Amino acid sequence: MSTLDSLPILPDDLQGASLVVPSSASSSTTPAGNPVSSPPAPFPDDSDARRASREKDAESGQKPTSPAQPAGSWPGRRGPNKRDSQSPTSRSTEPGKSRDVVRETELPLAAFELESSSAESGTGEASQTELFETNPPPWELAVEDDVLLASIVFSRSPHGPYDYRIPDSLREELKPGMRVGVPLGHRKKPTPGWCVAVKEGKAAHRKLRDVAECIDESPLCDASLVRLVMWMAHYYQVPAGQVFDTLIPSSVRSAAGTKQTTYFTPAKEVTDTVIDKLPAKQQAVMRHLVSANRSMTSAELAVAASCTEDPIRRLKKKGLIVPEVRREMHSGIRILAQTNDGEADRTHELTEQQTAALERINVAVDSGRGRTLLLHGVTGSGKTEVYIRAIEHVVSQAGSAIVMVPEISLTPQTRGRFESRFPSVAVLHSQMSPSERHFHWQRIRRGEVQVVIGPRSAVFAPLPNLGLIVLDEEHDTSFKQDSQPRYHARKVAHARAMSLGIPLLLGSATPSMEAWHATQSGHAELISMPDRVAGRPMPDVQLVDLRVRDDRAGGGAISRPLKQAVDETLREKGQAILLLNRRGFATTIQCPACGHVVACPDCDMPLTHHRDGGKAMCHYCDYTIGTPPWCPACRFDGIRYGGLGTQKLEVEAKAKFPDAKIARMDGDTMKRPGSHQRVLSEFRSGEIDILLGTQMIAKGLDFPNVLLVGVINADSALHFPDFRAAERTFQLVTQVAGRTGRGDRGGRVIVQTFTPEHPAIQAASRHDYFKFVEEEMVNRRKFNYPPLGSVARIIIRGPVEEKTEDVADSILARLESARDLLKSEVRILGPAPPPIVRLRGKYRFHLLLQATDSAVVGEVIRRALADFKTDPKEEIEYLIDIDPVNLL
Ligand code: ADP
Ligand code: ZN
Repeated sequence: MSTLDSLPILPDDLQGASLVVPSSASSSTTPAGNPVSSPPAPFPDDSDARRASREKDAESGQKPTSPAQPAGSWPGRRGPNKRDSQSPTSRSTEPGKSRDVVRETELPLAAFELESSSAESGTGEASQTELFETNPPPWELAVEDDVLLASIVFSRSPHGPYDYRIPDSLREELKPGMRVGVPLGHRKKPTPGWCVAVKEGKAAHRKLRDVAECIDESPLCDASLVRLVMWMAHYYQVPAGQVFDTLIPSSVRSAAGTKQTTYFTPAKEVTDTVIDKLPAKQQAVMRHLVSANRSMTSAELAVAASCTEDPIRRLKKKGLIVPEVRREMHSGIRILAQTNDGEADRTHELTEQQTAALERINVAVDSGRGRTLLLHGVTGSGKTEVYIRAIEHVVSQAGSAIVMVPEISLTPQTRGRFESRFPSVAVLHSQMSPSERHFHWQRIRRGEVQVVIGPRSAVFAPLPNLGLIVLDEEHDTSFKQDSQPRYHARKVAHARAMSLGIPLLLGSATPSMEAWHATQSGHAELISMPDRVAGRPMPDVQLVDLRVRDDRAGGGAISRPLKQAVDETLREKGQAILLLNRRGFATTIQCPACGHVVACPDCDMPLTHHRDGGKAMCHYCDYTIGTPPWCPACRFDGIRYGGLGTQKLEVEAKAKFPDAKIARMDGDTMKRPGSHQRVLSEFRSGEIDILLGTQMIAKGLDFPNVLLVGVINADSALHFPDFRAAERTFQLVTQVAGRTGRGDRGGRVIVQTFTPEHPAIQAASRHDYFKFVEEEMVNRRKFNYPPLGSVARIIIRGPVEEKTEDVADSILARLESARDLLKSEVRILGPAPPPIVRLRGKYRFHLLLQATDSAVVGEVIRRALADFKTDPKEEIEYLIDIDPVNLL
């Protein structure tokens, strides 16, 4: 998780300054260890590539522009402008002169285009001085500025960046942020890559290979997004090409929902005399085209001139009409009507607290500076209304905004609230079709959208006049991506906001420790809304101690006090929410005779029994078998289901409340598009009395008739081997408790737990966020855990346990020597098997790195692994997770 306070790259006091990136981001060694050199060699493996490149260069008499970094050396950092400061003779390879030791050097990203050229050619230029005369002949000086280079990165290995020459024909066209086709190795077809910089080259660069083509007509990312990509590539240690692929949806890259159409216009030199000499049909076509005074498709022309397409083809062949291919949206794309769930939409007279909050946000918007605000408003304090008003203010100045919410809160309710207040809203969600996504993306980019609402990926929405980024429920773990690039939307939003000089507004009733710490250390401004709207009280929370036998009603999941409360609620025609954070029926399948637990063969984790269809499933990899009727180990015929999942709770609830209409909401029932929306509208309309489910029902819902919330087992997340276990528990209980008491009839909460005395549960039961953070901060400080320190995790996985461990050990050795070299205070833990020892058939080991400064952690890893390669035959991979959220 990001530590807002220790942002090495973007201290808040740099307000509005351009995004800065450590120079090593653009230096000659990428995390994957690829040298910046050109022309790239045809081998996927980098060391081979380097060798081959050297051999080839030896043949051609050209030296690689950048030889591999000598072990233990630092990528070169250059002065701000090498072009005027460095004559060929002054280029020095002496360590410490042109190559400073890099410690997260702050380098204005605005200068990235220039810097990348200097850094990239860093070591390379030096070698070229040996090859070319130090005093180039005058004719070379004369053409020097004529060479334009493009720096290209690739999403697959080799990742680059590599320099290519821009041929004259593409000089006007090619811009950073565009995809281009370039020759790579011996591949016949041009390889697609992303242009990250265009820069002037030297005469020596004339030998580089040419960019073959531009794939896009205009850049898919503007300059600020290209900078964001480069920052992410550096910070998260991911090849920039892969970050581009995350930033630009695949539907956009493949132009989903578009077709190519050829339009014709008359050639410039066509005169009446020329036309008069043509055969009759062709004459007719020409005259229609000339008089139409616009370009026409071949089909349109054929109809207009009542002819076949043959005369058109002939005219084209003669060069009398000029084709132009355009990509257009299909007219028939189905854009799902975006409807709300029937919540009456109304604007509110703001409460005093809302007014005060809004004023401060508006001041931040008007300041034109990058700054972070934390809106800490209790559940039901009306945060959404504040977001909407703040965005109205931004829109009134022709600006636009991004609102990120956890995917699960992308409910019709959220949508409806924004759509009823802004004429042009784009809601991005995971169930969109590719063409729909592409359609919205284009609208957003053209500036036709005022507000973009979506999950974490919405942080990349290419809005042209972005004026505010809102991250609602900023504590939510879904803002961290679990696959490469493992970015956190909060961190990326912060980087984007600061580089644009706009505010980032974080909102939560239970702010993350990171966000809270940022307010305490002066990196974020705290705005509080401690009371609910309309003078509504916070709901009463009653703890039920499950260790007390009398309360546990005979083995069931619903205790006696909870049963009574539900009965009362139903009598009062109110609604209830029951939270249980495990899906499935039974969470273990165990033989009482021999003790065998049915487990996943690929992950070694117990399978969960699902009652629908009698399946036993692995919740880590989706491995599924029919639930065995007898023990697979000893054949004992009486296997037992233990542990409690939502399906079992549903069965029990139906038995205990036979007259109530009950619906279950979890990952299993919500698979089909629209099911979420359907259940929620039924709940709003009162057709459903009891809604039970996983954490899905804990987030954001605002239903006034919910008089009771029951937490079946508050401890479920408490005993996870994760330093954030207490924080998660506090958040979950507080959030779900916040779903009640939102109407005029009040509400109550019953929390079942085996550890009622636990500080997180105590604090949640009193709605006491401050008490919780105070105590939790002490724990974090003890071990220097985030937000006080920074953590990174390296996972090593492979099919053979010993070999995987060997690789983990050698990574440890490298990390240690990098740490010693840097003389940095980084604690390295492991390698050790993580809680999930085996996943999808791979053995796993992990290492944790900890330090006060995240920049140092990043640098140690970068140094240690820059040129680290595993043997492809052993299929061992390692992955780097900066600010990990998941430690399993
Ligand atoms: P939060 O996100 O802070 O938990 P919501 O934004 O969902 O709270 O708002 C809670 C409820 O209060 C919503 O039904 C909203 O329509 C209502 N509300 C918001 N502002 C006001 C206000 N100023 N006066 C009355 N009701 C309000
Ligand atoms: Zn599995």
